[in-house]
Amino acid sequence: SDTGTGAGSARSRLTVLSGPSGVGKSSVLAELRKQQPDVYFSVSATTRKPRPGEVDGVHYHFVDREKFQQMIDAGEFLEHAEFAGNCYGTPRKPVEEALAAGKPALLEIELQGARQVREAMPDAQLVMLMPPSWEHLVVRLTGRGTEDPAIVERRLAIAREELAAEKEFDEVVVNADVKSAAADLLSLMVGPRISGV
Ligand code: 5GP
Repeated sequence: SDTGTGAGSARSRLTVLSGPSGVGKSSVLAELRKQQPDVYFSVSATTRKPRPGEVDGVHYHFVDREKFQQMIDAGEFLEHAEFAGNCYGTPRKPVEEALAAGKPALLEIELQGARQVREAMPDAQLVMLMPPSWEHLVVRLTGRGTEDPAIVERRLAIAREELAAEKEFDEVVVNADVKSAAADLLSLMVGPRISGV
């Protein structure tokens, strides 16, 4: 009954990446995709409207509230939460399939969802992406320019709370530089000794 054989070690291959809006999660993940294509990147469902450049089925599955509720009712989510007025959820099946195949899986989700995953899968590794400073975050969130000021303010308020939850996380990665942050995250996911898995 050796469950640790095969693709790697017995360590959990599920990593949850959280961090405040504007910290640069998407850029770090885009960099990680380049470095390590053999990671399963979960695609969430959301009721948020697509931003310019976002592609349905790639960045998110964009669904309406009714469809989202149907997915909840059908038990299709590993976790789900409401964030700044929109619903977000992680489809359970593809994550379970990746893990069963021995592939590392990565969820990029907010704090409430991270807590739910912690409950459902205690082995999951929770990683918080932190800005080098609070000022970095304010500049990035304001400068994105895709959301109206009320939404930006709401996201900043949530960001304060999220940063305060740092102690609930197993690891912290500081995003001072996208390439090093992606490398740090990757080594947390697969370990420095099993590169090439
Ligand atoms: P955004 O609207 O900026 O794409 O995402 C807003 C927040 O929702 C981010 O903190 C992001 O990590 C989080 N998020 C994205 N997908 C999910 C998900 O499936 N579940 C949860 N709980 N949060 C998510």
